[in-house]
Amino acid sequence: MVGSWPRPESLLRARKLERAGAIAREELVREEDSAVLEALRCQEEAGIDMVTDGEQRRDNFYSFVAENLEGVRLMTLAEMLDVVEDKAGFERILQTLDVPAYSISNPTCVGRMERRKPLAVDELRFLKRHTEKPVKVTLPGPYLLTRAMFVEEVTRKVYASKEDLAEDVIRVLREEIRELIAGGASFIQLDEPVLTELVFTGGRTRTFMCAALAARKDPAEELAFAVSLINRVLEDARGVRTGLHVCRGNWSRNESTLLRGGYHPLIPYLEAIRVDQLVLEYATERAGDVLRFRGRELGLGVVNPRTDRVETPEEIRRLVEKALELYPIEELFLNPDCGFGTFSGRPLNDPATASAKLKSMVAAAKPLRERAARGP
Ligand SMILES: [Zn+2]
Repeated sequence: MVGSWPRPESLLRARKLERAGAIAREELVREEDSAVLEALRCQEEAGIDMVTDGEQRRDNFYSFVAENLEGVRLMTLAEMLDVVEDKAGFERILQTLDVPAYSISNPTCVGRMERRKPLAVDELRFLKRHTEKPVKVTLPGPYLLTRAMFVEEVTRKVYASKEDLAEDVIRVLREEIRELIAGGASFIQLDEPVLTELVFTGGRTRTFMCAALAARKDPAEELAFAVSLINRVLEDARGVRTGLHVCRGNWSRNESTLLRGGYHPLIPYLEAIRVDQLVLEYATERAGDVLRFRGRELGLGVVNPRTDRVETPEEIRRLVEKALELYPIEELFLNPDCGFGTFSGRPLNDPATASAKLKSMVAAAKPLRERAARGP
């Protein structure tokens, strides 16, 4: 899994009711617990080797941090529209990108940032009580968080620059990672989907994730900034497998609104990031050919999380065979291109299709493993 699993209706309803004060927090937690257990059951039944909690407790893959951080407040895109200076531009982006404008909110930094409670440690603890399988935990990367949180019009009052805010983002993520390692996480993945945006749009386009923010520097400088933040976050991440997930957006089933282009321009940056594994999308042809990244394992995206059609094991095997020309089998993981449920209000797929896709991955892996075990 890359991370998320579709959230059930009952959970979405409970979250809305809890926000409105109509039900108690404990009731929401009960819904979350049962959604996590169901997501886990589907993964175990499919037979995959490493599980996540399906990000069932998160509204989406990055905005959830607002609940746990002092000084960060969720702003709806409508509220953002009130504060950003370039209102026309902001609205144009929302329309052309087919963004679920009223189902997502931006974690905006409005005060000094502190970690009020852990971001993901409780998720890990719960999952580990219910499975024997190794657990992967995802966290939004420091570059994504810094860019999303720094909304000039309100953040400037507290932090003079993005760089200043980044210092606190790094501190918070390092604390979190230390506790995740102590808690027995097998794999910690940082999500940095905006890196592709920098290379494909020259940093000019603002995406849904960083709607209030354009990258002000040139893309190369901005990428170097991202690399330095990620490396600092991972500085003492030992005794755990680390990964970085980079995709081209996963917010719409309308593929034409998503970014297109190979990972080539990112090679020097991705090779400079000290992670064990790059978790990349390759099931979509928008991502180009499989590339070799020196010194890194590859999490090879083999199924498209946004489509109804289930890729056959044969198709997946063909893609893996190509990757095997570049990577030894022990450096290759199979995963979907991205999460199955990025935004809670707009799941990208249904659990039955997602399960079938995981099963296809498992079926594809089996003969390849057997062949590898037999030796050359
Ligand atoms: Zn993704």
